[in-house]
Amino acid sequence: MNSPAIGATGARVELVDLCKRYGTAEPPAVDSIALDIQPGEFITLLGPSGSGKTTTLNMIVGFTEPTSGRIELNGKDISRTPAHKRNFGMVFQNYALFPHLTVAQNVAFPLRERKVPAAQSAKLVGDALELVDLGGMGNRRPHELSGGQQQRVALARAVVFSPSVLLLDEPLSALDRKLRQSLQREIKRLHDELGLTFVFVTHDQDEAMTLSDRIAIFDHGKIVAVGTPAELYHRPTTQFVARFLGESNVFAGRYRSADVYEWNDRKWTVRETGDGTENQALIVRPERLQVAFDEESVPSGSNVAPAAVTDVSFYGTYYRIELAFDDNSTGMAVLPVGAPAVVDPGTRVIAHWRPEDQVLVSQ
Ligand code: ADP
Ligand code: MG
Repeated sequence: MNSPAIGATGARVELVDLCKRYGTAEPPAVDSIALDIQPGEFITLLGPSGSGKTTTLNMIVGFTEPTSGRIELNGKDISRTPAHKRNFGMVFQNYALFPHLTVAQNVAFPLRERKVPAAQSAKLVGDALELVDLGGMGNRRPHELSGGQQQRVALARAVVFSPSVLLLDEPLSALDRKLRQSLQREIKRLHDELGLTFVFVTHDQDEAMTLSDRIAIFDHGKIVAVGTPAELYHRPTTQFVARFLGESNVFAGRYRSADVYEWNDRKWTVRETGDGTENQALIVRPERLQVAFDEESVPSGSNVAPAAVTDVSFYGTYYRIELAFDDNSTGMAVLPVGAPAVVDPGTRVIAHWRPEDQVLVSQ
């Protein structure tokens, strides 16, 4: 007989026109979202507080009933399936361990609920604790562990019964920065080893960027963008997405035609139409913005925006230069150390970039 082992095939989870209203007077907490989560994918729901991330996760796991729409698991509607029959793992921000149980008893809890025989359970618990580097800690109580270790116990408990989907609701938000980074790596490794579908919630954009295959950006109960971290960073379609994921120089000018963008009496080259409307902003990421001291030294074909340097900070491998553009908007450039342009605050400069390094975004 095969010995029991942790691990399952990741499932496909599809959200179809999913809505949740808590009260008829309030706007929907989740407003007609659609999302097709692939088997084994690491997808992150990213958005500001109150944007509907937790409500979405709770509907997927089965704690919250959708007002309308449906959830499909491998093509089968599970919208009305009780949580315990969905067999999904869940990890919360506050660990939610049982304080009076040992670490091993905590991890064994889902197996007891599923009436797994003792010997098999002991083997699975041992494997799960090894998986999160807590082998040998099984007899401790939660209060004898650090916050990071407690969250590892919660992770072990969430995967010990080989769920096909693991849902994580801001699991690292209570930890300090260093611990958060080490647990991020741990979670990524767990994902790669187990092959489960991970649905991860965070409001931390860096965390979302480093962990995810794809990110779904939430705003006011809606999914406003879905894509890989690189797609969303380099080709955002709205100002909200551009501002939410990374930093941008945002130029509020007018899109005139497929050749011309007007900003502060300047005419810039554009090679895209965006959504076609006049009222689009043009954004340039800080590492794509160059700085020159006069317009003559700007490569031909570049778009230019005169600015004053307001601050320069040194970060070891790069300089960060804060800028005030001539329309009084502010921006920034990130220049590698060793670049000739080391400037002092107050210096007048010409910010410039290539048209292919800009993006038109909707309001
Ligand atoms: P997030 O996790 O993105 O911070 P939530 O899903 O928790 O967002 O909340 C979305 C909206 O739904 C918020 O306006 C919140 O106040 C509301 N909400 C969440 N849970 C409940 C509840 N149990 N009853 C009433 N309103 C709720
Ligand atoms: Mg939340």
